[in-house]
Amino acid sequence: MRIGVLAVQGAFAEHIATLHGLKVATVPVRLPSELRSLDGLIIPGGESTTISRLMLDYNLASEIRNLAKSGIPILGTCAGMILLAKEISDADAEPLGLMDITVRRNAFGRQRDSFETDLAIPALGEKPFPGVFIRAPIIEQASSNVEILTRLNKATIVAARQGKLLVSAFHPELTSDLRFHKYFLDIVEDSKSRLEENNLAEGNHG
Ligand code: GLN
Repeated sequence: MRIGVLAVQGAFAEHIATLHGLKVATVPVRLPSELRSLDGLIIPGGESTTISRLMLDYNLASEIRNLAKSGIPILGTCAGMILLAKEISDADAEPLGLMDITVRRNAFGRQRDSFETDLAIPALGEKPFPGVFIRAPIIEQASSNVEILTRLNKATIVAARQGKLLVSAFHPELTSDLRFHKYFLDIVEDSKSRLEENNLAEGNHG
């Protein structure tokens, strides 16, 4: 399994370290050619306006859209979540527009812009997950085809999944709890074996 981590700006080194801890081969992605032969991609936190500009400058945006269309799973954390959204309520960054969610940047304001809190995420098991929020966005709206994984204070959506797209407003790469990354790697493993089955089936028929 090979996972790419978009490495143009932001917290990519922490995601790479987490994946190394899980013994997964990783590729820091700065060039479109580095998106080839990946089984999954992570878009890290950072500054979504900067990352979106660099993705356009380096011709990465359209290639990442193609990757998603070809069925490669993508995890977006914090700024990465903003970039996967169909809509951003303030229009500073140009998102990739892949996931049916509307997000609001810096949703917690200056008073409470960074904090840590336990989150109930049933998909990861009973033990609460440590949510590290840093100038975090929130999901303001999600269509009915989006699975909500957790809400902050039983209200605000801060992690969700739509098929092979997974997003969190918090930073799982800044904790020692590996369950969020493992959950993503399960999606990748599942998708990889399905894609291989399809290729085999196509081969058998032709
Ligand atoms: N506030 C940043 C943005 O709007 C996101 C912060 C983060 O990724 N930690 O892009």
